[in-house]
Amino acid sequence: MDKLSPSERSELMSRVRGKDTQPELCVRRLAHALGFRFRLHRRDLPGKPDLVFPKYKTAVFVHGCFWHQHTGCRKATIPATRSEFWCRKLYRNVERDAVAASALAEMGWHVGIFWECQTGNTAFVERSLQKLLLKPRRRRAA
Ligand SMILES: [Zn+2]
Repeated sequence: MDKLSPSERSELMSRVRGKDTQPELCVRRLAHALGFRFRLHRRDLPGKPDLVFPKYKTAVFVHGCFWHQHTGCRKATIPATRSEFWCRKLYRNVERDAVAASALAEMGWHVGIFWECQTGNTAFVERSLQKLLLKPRRRRAA
């Protein structure tokens, strides 16, 4: 069930737990290179999105595949030891993500999610950012 060795697992945890993770830095770097202006970790928004693009009213999360249980991803396995503990803990994260995303949507924000395993593919991230931020928006009636 758990395909990572203990040392890989602890490396993963120390890396993913902190702020400014590699995947996050990757998305930031690409967004910046594309000329999009953004703010980081806005605490006043549900879920404290990793990147916020105020001009586009778009919030972006960069999720670690393990911590946020990327569906179908090989990095999203539940550890074999103390699996019940992990199940509960990770499920709570997933639940929190869903609550934050729907709260943001209710406030009129667009929400984008990048998964850790996607951020190695810079062309994909660039395309997704452009699609997310530049897609035509229906204007709300005043
Ligand atoms: Zn993944």
